[in-house]
Amino acid sequence: MNNQTMVQRDLKVLWHPCSQMKDHESVPLIPIKSGQGVWLEDFEGKRYLDAISSWWVNIFGHANPVINQAVKQQLDTLEHVILGGFTHEAAVTLAEKLVEITPAGLDKCFYADNGSSAVEIALKMSFHYWRNLGKTQKTQFITLENSYHGETLGALAVGNVALYKETYAPLLMDVITVPGPDCYHRESGETWQDYSIRRFADMEQTLAKHADSVCAVIVEPLVQCAGSMRMYHPVYLTMLREACDRYGVHLIADEIAVGFGRTGTLFACEQAAISPDFICLSKGLTGGYLPLSAVLTSDTVYRAFYDDYQNLTAFLHSHSYTGNALGCRAALATIGLFQQQDVLGNNRRLAAAMTKAVERFQDHPNVAEVRQTGMIVAIELVKNKHTREAYPWQQRRGLRVYQYALGRGVLLRPLGNVIYFMPPYVITEQEITLMIEVAWQGIQYAVRD
Ligand SMILES: *Cc1c(COP(=O)(O)O)cnc(C)c1O
Repeated sequence: MNNQTMVQRDLKVLWHPCSQMKDHESVPLIPIKSGQGVWLEDFEGKRYLDAISSWWVNIFGHANPVINQAVKQQLDTLEHVILGGFTHEAAVTLAEKLVEITPAGLDKCFYADNGSSAVEIALKMSFHYWRNLGKTQKTQFITLENSYHGETLGALAVGNVALYKETYAPLLMDVITVPGPDCYHRESGETWQDYSIRRFADMEQTLAKHADSVCAVIVEPLVQCAGSMRMYHPVYLTMLREACDRYGVHLIADEIAVGFGRTGTLFACEQAAISPDFICLSKGLTGGYLPLSAVLTSDTVYRAFYDDYQNLTAFLHSHSYTGNALGCRAALATIGLFQQQDVLGNNRRLAAAMTKAVERFQDHPNVAEVRQTGMIVAIELVKNKHTREAYPWQQRRGLRVYQYALGRGVLLRPLGNVIYFMPPYVITEQEITLMIEVAWQGIQYAVRD
């Protein structure tokens, strides 16, 4: 089996996610045979450094021996069992662990099998909570400009990235969209903190006006990942928590991308010292092994559903693979690694190495901004550094960086014209140097003409 036959077979039968399939007439599909640590290998022995953690899911490397072993053991014991009316050890232990490690007050765990489903669950639970309390006028959600919460219709509705959303607009519920704290737009000389505080005024006004009809505000804490890796200061979350309490509105923290150490703390909410009413987890939850997600919420929310069956207050939501045993076991092994090693300390060292390696991008004539939060670094490529005029999207400059980097054995997958690094935590400083050098050269290549 070589690359070419693999690709030919693929293109006959497979429709790939988030892809214009016609692109593959000119941009080759990359077939991967195996993975090891930060490296992926194709069918002919060419290796690629996975600088984006395979869409932000992989945190401890491919074929991690500890997670492998845990999943293998679980496989010989129990692969899956219905979670309605039944339970199993991995689901129970993982729920205990998640309650223990997430911010205080998140005491009940509801499982699903992907991030979008977790968002749907949080939205439905919040709405249903208020309904069970007799507050049937609460039917709306507040979201931030440039946010992303997944692709299913409910999750897409509370998102705000036009590229994914616009086509489906006629199918989506109405939401209240508030200007966001994205610090790319701050005035020169203004700090992230000052800008984030200033931008909160819109949220305050919106809550004041609509609190009676609003179930929850949903946010991606600190980094709007799919929205071009735009970042903001934790003070926004601190203010939002306080305001949500004051107005009687839930706060949903979508930590699907930023959870599990990505931003420097185990959960991004910790940097604002807040507990949301709901936290959505997926992606890094299983170390990038298996599809699993979880929504954690408070006892207060749980108790509003807890009643005699005849009162019809139960949360009748399920997915076939809810609480899958293999997924739960991979998650337990992943959390185990955080507890056995100083992962966050090591990440601080790696993050500092990335800061240093991207320093020179600041002065590049086509870079408007280099920004970083923990293990996420993003470089905003523009046509004009001073006016920040963007390249016309049709030119697909980011795609050129992608193609160049693949040729050099690095998997980058720019979001439009934003090049970013979000590597597995097992990357070495040497590999960081390589990854960033290749991106530098890729940018030179992409901005020519
Ligand atoms: C990826 C992502 C989702 C959706 O998760 P899927 O598993 O892809 O459905 C939701 N929210 C955020 C912040 C994400 O990054």
